[in-house]
Amino acid sequence: MKIAILSRNKNLYSTRRLVEAAQKRGHEVQVIDHLKCYMNITSKNPTMHYKGETLDGFDAVIPRIGASVTFYGTAVLRQFEMMGVYPLNESVAISRSRDKLRSMQLLSRKGIGLPVTGFARNPDDIDDLIEEVGGTPLVIKLLEGTQGIGVVLAETKKAAESVLQAFMGLNVNIMIQEFIEEANGADIRCLVIDGKVVASMKRQGAEGEFRSNLHRGGSAELIKITPEERATAIIASKVMGLNVCGVDMLRSARGPLIMEVNSSPGLEGIEKASGKDIADLMIKVIEKKVNQNVDNPNKTKTKGRG
Ligand code: ADP
Ligand code: MG
Repeated sequence: MKIAILSRNKNLYSTRRLVEAAQKRGHEVQVIDHLKCYMNITSKNPTMHYKGETLDGFDAVIPRIGASVTFYGTAVLRQFEMMGVYPLNESVAISRSRDKLRSMQLLSRKGIGLPVTGFARNPDDIDDLIEEVGGTPLVIKLLEGTQGIGVVLAETKKAAESVLQAFMGLNVNIMIQEFIEEANGADIRCLVIDGKVVASMKRQGAEGEFRSNLHRGGSAELIKITPEERATAIIASKVMGLNVCGVDMLRSARGPLIMEVNSSPGLEGIEKASGKDIADLMIKVIEKKVNQNVDNPNKTKTKGRG
């Protein structure tokens, strides 16, 4: 097969591993910087261009689109979809998962465990919204934050009010969330591929840090998950419509609670913690789907699961 990897940098660990795994299985692979792609949208003949050349003949595309370029990156991916190239994760599923509020709303409909979450626009409603999520301490989050940046713990009502006012004044979208204290600064990342949890790790935040992100100094270790955690991760991947994703959960007194579903999970932490060849599993899923034509790209679901 001829596989495209949409990635801004071919030296990134995950990108390198995917190239390696694809080549090892006999595929031709090209790393393409999605920000340097440009498109011609012509009826019945959508085309993709890159550095003066026309990109053609790809069987599959692996999107590794960073959060800061979701709009352009998903547009490029969608163009590949329109050209009939099989996407390991679909553009619409990536957009869906990048918006934390939209994800929470879709997951709540399925009865999946979530921290109680509130969303508002009008500053006059702040007091009532704080009550709705059970008062302080609470967590305030930018809707499109990543790597722990834009996640704030407000321990008192005064602190919550001033942070909320500041964010609202900046005109950014935020949500507020019940603080799950018993998680003790740790969370669980389950890597789901094609409806199966293939590896899990526990991430522990640095001393005195409630955010467990590896980018914020957290550390990862292998963990055995419970059947309930496994089932929760699998349902979440289905609700989001992602073939490959990292499902992040907090261990709470009332069971697993989902915080977010990541459509471009980093491979380094999870491969090192689990000792598994995750890149190889991703390539195998592409082979299976393209051969079975299970998700016929011409029937892309880019038309509203929510
Ligand atoms: P990001 O997309 O920036 O990673 P997350 O929503 O995943 O944002 O939050 C970052 C980290 O903060 C999580 O991994 C978790 O450790 C901690 N965290 C987030 N929400 C809560 C919460 N409601 N209660 C306790 N800890 C939380
Ligand atoms: Mg996170």
